[in-house]
Amino acid sequence: MDTTVTIEVAALAEEAAILAAIDRAFGWFAEVERRCSRFDPTSELSLLSNTREQPVPVSPLLFHVLDLALAIAETSGGAFDPTVGAAMEARGFDRNFRTGEHHRSAAKAIAASYRDVILDAASTSVTLQKPLVLDLGAIAKGFAMDLAGRELAAFENSAINAGGDILVRGHNAAGQPWSIGVRHPREPGALLRTITVRDAAVCTSGDYERPADAGGHHILDPGTGRSPDDVVSATVIAPAAAVADGLATAAFVLGAQAGLDLLFREGVDGLIVTRSLAEFATPGFAALA
Ligand code: ADP
Ligand code: MG
Repeated sequence: MDTTVTIEVAALAEEAAILAAIDRAFGWFAEVERRCSRFDPTSELSLLSNTREQPVPVSPLLFHVLDLALAIAETSGGAFDPTVGAAMEARGFDRNFRTGEHHRSAAKAIAASYRDVILDAASTSVTLQKPLVLDLGAIAKGFAMDLAGRELAAFENSAINAGGDILVRGHNAAGQPWSIGVRHPREPGALLRTITVRDAAVCTSGDYERPADAGGHHILDPGTGRSPDDVVSATVIAPAAAVADGLATAAFVLGAQAGLDLLFREGVDGLIVTRSLAEFATPGFAALA
């Protein structure tokens, strides 16, 4: 996933059992990427993107990721949109980080949106009603973290850190609550806030992560095809990492006030930081700091 993942387990259990569980946990990152990558022409997602106007049976994993993506698209009024792939390619995000190869999809989307993606739960199949390029980059990592977290469920205390997105359970090896730093969006290496949580995911979308060649960065407003420049980082705390990951991207695109409204509506906590470094936090977030 072009990021570093670390897994920590604190448990009074056999080391071999812990290491085996950690291996299985890491395996989910590879598996989710294999199914959901836009950059791999042989991924299940790419094969789906190439088929239109007929139902394509997909794996339960891909179906679930798409299902959640569409729910977040719906609740964010389309600020979050898993059909943003063509716009991402147009902004230069078309390179497989492993091979360095440029990958452009065959499908060229014109005015398509998440509404053109139809799921059928009974047959676990997906129909794309228009040419479009699916992109699950905003939630796939969170989804992999949740699957990885399930492998660690036998142990009381664990932490998964995937490029700064965090999923923790219980407490740390010192018996203290897990302490999570939220990066300062403008001072590399500095923290803006530190919060303590147990049994929760904390995910951040920031404009500092991946700058685009053409200016802007890796989060796009599906309405304009450009990077929003109102918000510089959005952090969400939720029970599931996929939800925190997706809502962080959605809140980033919506802007501070509409982003906070979304977090209230979804019953999660978070912190949105604007370009002027004004901080908009839910009351629950402020209480964790
Ligand atoms: P990170 O990958 O740094 O954790 P995000 O979770 O915000 O950051 O995901 C950014 C990725 O989400 C982009 O690389 C792209 O694949 C995808 N994306 C960009 N804009 C949107 C959007 N408006 N809706 C859904 N997905 C998006
Ligand atoms: Mg995200």
